[in-house]
Amino acid sequence: MELSQATEIQVPGKVLLDGYEFMRSAGKVKLEGMVLWAGVQAGQGFTVTELIVPKQKGLRTPDGVCAIVEGDELRRLNMYLYRNSLELIAQVHTHPTEAYHSTTDDQYAIATTIGSFSIVVPNFAVIDYALSECAVYRLDANGIWNEVDESAQPNRITVT
Ligand SMILES: [Zn+2]
Repeated sequence: MELSQATEIQVPGKVLLDGYEFMRSAGKVKLEGMVLWAGVQAGQGFTVTELIVPKQKGLRTPDGVCAIVEGDELRRLNMYLYRNSLELIAQVHTHPTEAYHSTTDDQYAIATTIGSFSIVVPNFAVIDYALSECAVYRLDANGIWNEVDESAQPNRITVT
């Protein structure tokens, strides 16, 4: 089954909240933060099993300061995923204010498999936002990040 065929995604509350905590600490020094969700697919279900916090640095762009992950770290990450039979399903990052997918986000996306999610959290994740308060996108077969409704299939993300 391809990642794009996963229609029910389950993520442990701890993965969501630990990610917010990291991104909030980056926000305290006015930097966007980025975390990744990895896990295992079984048919149409995908279970996130771990949070990955990649080495990252702030890049100043017209949209603000963007968190980017460089080549060496990406290679290390891919090796880690491969060795542990894990797949990346989502990248999650913060914005200083409004949550939307910027051109920079499109350009520097780490999750590049069709069917990957990209979740943008507003206000440097100052609080533990519900996913409904974030902007949730999914990569389609044409390489376009479309905003999706994560409360319903085929893009449902349930926090467990
Ligand atoms: Zn962004």
